[in-house]
Amino acid sequence: MKKVFDAHIHHTYEMKIADAIRIFKLEFPVTGTQRQAFMSIPNKVSPEHVFYLNEMQNIRMLFLKHAFSPTAYAFAGLEHPIDAFEREDSYLSDLYLKQAEEYKAAGFDGMKMLEGYPSVRKAMKRPLCHSVYDKYYSFLEENNIPVTMHLANPESLWNIAEADEYSIKMGRVCDSTYPTKNELHDEVDGIMKKHPRLRLTLAHFGFMSTDIERAKRWMDYENTCFDITPGGEQLLKMGKEWDSWGGFFEKYQDRILYGSDYYAYPEDEKWEENFTKRPKLIRDFFETDTEHEYQGEKFRGIKLDEKIVDKIYWNNAMRLLGDPKKIDYSYMRALAESLLAKPDKYSPFADEDLRYILESISDF
Ligand SMILES: [Zn+2]
Repeated sequence: MKKVFDAHIHHTYEMKIADAIRIFKLEFPVTGTQRQAFMSIPNKVSPEHVFYLNEMQNIRMLFLKHAFSPTAYAFAGLEHPIDAFEREDSYLSDLYLKQAEEYKAAGFDGMKMLEGYPSVRKAMKRPLCHSVYDKYYSFLEENNIPVTMHLANPESLWNIAEADEYSIKMGRVCDSTYPTKNELHDEVDGIMKKHPRLRLTLAHFGFMSTDIERAKRWMDYENTCFDITPGGEQLLKMGKEWDSWGGFFEKYQDRILYGSDYYAYPEDEKWEENFTKRPKLIRDFFETDTEHEYQGEKFRGIKLDEKIVDKIYWNNAMRLLGDPKKIDYSYMRALAESLLAKPDKYSPFADEDLRYILESISDF
């Protein structure tokens, strides 16, 4: 099995960090996952439409990087106050820059942004290219710090008539109170106009599988990338038009990254299916020319040139990230202690995890 560098891994299930580590250790060998980038997502919007902050995300990702050292990386997420939308521009501008500086010094390898997710973007109110982010993006650009952003969603989620029940229930369907898909795309262009050398990767192929011209325009910038993380099934849509997409993969073979939205899944009867289904889809799609099925949809693999597959699976992420940055353990300790002292944290296992983290890193 070809090894993969998974540049898009989360840990959001509410389980103890020690269990997550144990489960990841069982999962990674099965899927050939030999390098791992853990992506932090502190702010989200709940199915009840509440914008919240999970203050455990950054420290958990940094600790996972420690636990899987020396093959692992961690991307931090900005922590937005839950009333960010009514804060002053100058306050946010300083806050975001300060956080980027702090995370770089702490040993994070990049930034993950869920800010382009429609419900999060709606809650934040400010466009992704708003001036409150200028100093933050400039810092990332000057320091060659990679950013992975979730931008938009499949088109169907702006169309209530076509949306599935689950998406409606989860509040993923966008009515006129949300930014449109086009607005979101214009906003990331707005970022790149101000910061043309930013190493900005759009996750899930930027949900551009139905618009190759837009995908090409995204690649006109010097350091932009896509990750192939499954979602809304972009790969199957591209497979149907491989006459055009084949050329795209050939031309931009150095700027496409492997990712799978990997998790340590609870060990129930669906466990193996859950952690293997997206890695399997990717391998079936890129490595074979035979017929397969994904979530009830039949498709044929495109059997991409092996040299390009190796770049996507491994070399491109290695070139982008290099060796993992050194973790500042005194930072991690101080952060764990300050979080322990904080009441009413979002996560139910917070204190238990923090004590476990402090104990595990006491010799570092
Ligand atoms: Zn993700």
